[in-house]
Amino acid sequence: MKRSQLQGMVLAKCPHCRQGNLFKYPFWNVKKFDQMYTFCPHCGQRYENEPGFFIGATYVSYALSVGIVLGTAIVLFNFFGDPSAFVYISVAIGLMLVTMPFNFRVARVIYIYLFSGIEYEENPRMITREKEV
Ligand SMILES: [Zn+2]
Repeated sequence: MKRSQLQGMVLAKCPHCRQGNLFKYPFWNVKKFDQMYTFCPHCGQRYENEPGFFIGATYVSYALSVGIVLGTAIVLFNFFGDPSAFVYISVAIGLMLVTMPFNFRVARVIYIYLFSGIEYEENPRMITREKEV
């Protein structure tokens, strides 16, 4: 089945085959939302192509958090009559905590698709896997 890059990103699939999942559990599983496969279960592509690769995803996550804070500020200012600073900070922190599992995963998906250098192949052969760690 052929998927576009956008479909692969939205469904959090492997950037190499767009079939295998990146994450082991759905994002609403708050205890295990961060667990990723080391290798693609479909094609065997290693996701972390160098040690600490996903540290770069924190920059994407930071940008998403800034978007949440700015969006919160704009909505509160325009629709809730400019409340006190305490309300701004509380709502922004609350929203960031609630969206954290989602934000974490979106950041990693964007990062692996844009910066890993993993090329898409429609029918990749299974890459011989190292032992899963
Ligand atoms: Zn794959």
